[in-house]
Amino acid sequence: MHSKIFSATPVGINAYPVEIEVDLSFGLINFFIVGLPDTAIKESKHRILTALKNTGFKLPQKKITVNLAPADLKKEGTLFDLPIAIGILFAIKHIELSKQFIEETIFLGELSLDGSIKPIKGALAIAYDSKKIGKKRIILPKENANEAALLQELEIIGVENIIELISYLKKEIEIQPTNYSWQNYYNQQLEQNLDFSQVKGQEQAKRALQICAAGNHNILFVGSPGSGKTMLAKRLPTIMPKMTFDEILETTKIYSISGKLQGQKLLFSRPFRNPHHTISQAGLVGGGTFPQPGEISLAHNGILFLDELTEFKRSTLEVLRQPLENKNVCLARANHTIEYPASFLLVAALNPCPCGFFGDKKKQCVCSSQQIAKYIEKLSGPLLDRIDLQVYVQSIEYSEITSTNKINNSQDIYSSVEKAVEKQKLRFSKARYNSSMSTEEIEKYCELTSEAQAILKKTFERLNLSMRGYHKILKVSRTIADLDDKEIIDVKHIQEAVMYRSLDQKLQE
Ligand SMILES: [Zn+2]
Repeated sequence: MHSKIFSATPVGINAYPVEIEVDLSFGLINFFIVGLPDTAIKESKHRILTALKNTGFKLPQKKITVNLAPADLKKEGTLFDLPIAIGILFAIKHIELSKQFIEETIFLGELSLDGSIKPIKGALAIAYDSKKIGKKRIILPKENANEAALLQELEIIGVENIIELISYLKKEIEIQPTNYSWQNYYNQQLEQNLDFSQVKGQEQAKRALQICAAGNHNILFVGSPGSGKTMLAKRLPTIMPKMTFDEILETTKIYSISGKLQGQKLLFSRPFRNPHHTISQAGLVGGGTFPQPGEISLAHNGILFLDELTEFKRSTLEVLRQPLENKNVCLARANHTIEYPASFLLVAALNPCPCGFFGDKKKQCVCSSQQIAKYIEKLSGPLLDRIDLQVYVQSIEYSEITSTNKINNSQDIYSSVEKAVEKQKLRFSKARYNSSMSTEEIEKYCELTSEAQAILKKTFERLNLSMRGYHKILKVSRTIADLDDKEIIDVKHIQEAVMYRSLDQKLQE
């Protein structure tokens, strides 16, 4: 007695088909699974046998061999419980399945000992790639049904327990395919309770964030504790360009693989990740025995906020160099490489000096100039190189807190961001941002008035800028001019961009 059905497994953020063959033969009564890691087999066997027993099935007194192919594909155990159980029931002819049905269907699900079906990780990625290889139907845990149905291109059958599934396969009951209208959900989730109008004062910092959102520029906030750096950063997602459908899928796939989709929510707004400075390297960039995406991938298409930057281990920050450059992260394993996307906007924050109050209007700094110089020196390196805007954030004055002036709400800032993003789309003929311009593109697209050119030349000499620093000023002024709806970069655009090199200027003092 022999059967073959199909399942799939996520690897990175992609999914690969897995063939499950079950063979029953005469011999000593035993149960073998081939093709899973040893540790997973033992637990899997136990769950499958107990679930079948507890739901009233009597297994034949035979030798059962289950083979999961391809063998060299690294698989996690739990999502094959259900397909293996169905494969066994099919092999003993407890259920009948047509050849066509088998070819078209992917089975997924972890079994509980009582036969109920528990949710799995990566359902969206599996749905996405199953469609690509011509599958028509996925039978999976009910809790994952909405997530898999997001694509609206496959028949998604969500099941709660194995008895229900068997009745369905025997055509004793019908299960309606899950129909998930993501468009309705999209509108719901855009209503957010964070808004820039809740941040009093801080006009310069808000303006800097507007520029970041418009041109996808990384930013560094320097300011004393309690000056509102975190409050500002948290509101950045409210003014970022709307996610495209592809971005929604990509980001949701990462959360699905990490098992972090809360309930049945999908990610329609840009993620904001705020890891603590004690985070491990694997936690930040990804890794582990069963590889998981790290914070930088959970921030994909959104924002990575690193508060108290100088508190992070230098080695931890060093590993950000490659992802910041390539917008993805490659994790080398024993015999293969796993790639996760990691395209995020970096917002970093730090105190201006060891005590935290250098330049503060209300509190005296107690650091020596030597201490401060050493502190700032620690920052030089790959990370600072990737930051386009540096902004000093002052703790706000009492008058600013009590002011009821409510200009600069998120919606107003967002409207101008949206227009600037449209201009960039036309410029690059696709969704791309000024921050990603190459040297050639900077020359092509950053035309300056002669007065602006003169100012830039003076700044270049005064700040003793590197070529990289010079290009950053041009890229940022391109975005500022876009927000101002101007094709040619003028003096005020350059002057504002230079203002956002405050740390370079401090280093010159
Ligand atoms: Zn100090």
